[in-house]
Amino acid sequence: MLKPNSNEYHKTRLTGKELALILFGKKKCPQCGLKMRRNDIKEHYDKGNVFIGEGSNGTTFLNVDKFEVKIAYRCSNCDKRFTLSELTSLSKETR
Ligand SMILES: [Zn+2]
Repeated sequence: MLKPNSNEYHKTRLTGKELALILFGKKKCPQCGLKMRRNDIKEHYDKGNVFIGEGSNGTTFLNVDKFEVKIAYRCSNCDKRFTLSELTSLSKETR
């Protein structure tokens, strides 16, 4: 997804389980059980041109900063951050 007016391209990779956790899961801290707040991790991995769209309907954006976004949640009580994939594997273990 290219954010308009910001020259930042954000890429997120999600498994089906991770998507289900975002939509339906309870984002509770694995350590203390309190509700966590969304706190994504943004990693810059490249800078260059990004082509958005298809064929002649597409546009090339030049010199775009590319970020890989890892969805994560932060517990204000423990001050710890857990990525979505960590939370997904943790919830598997407790069941
Ligand atoms: Zn906590």
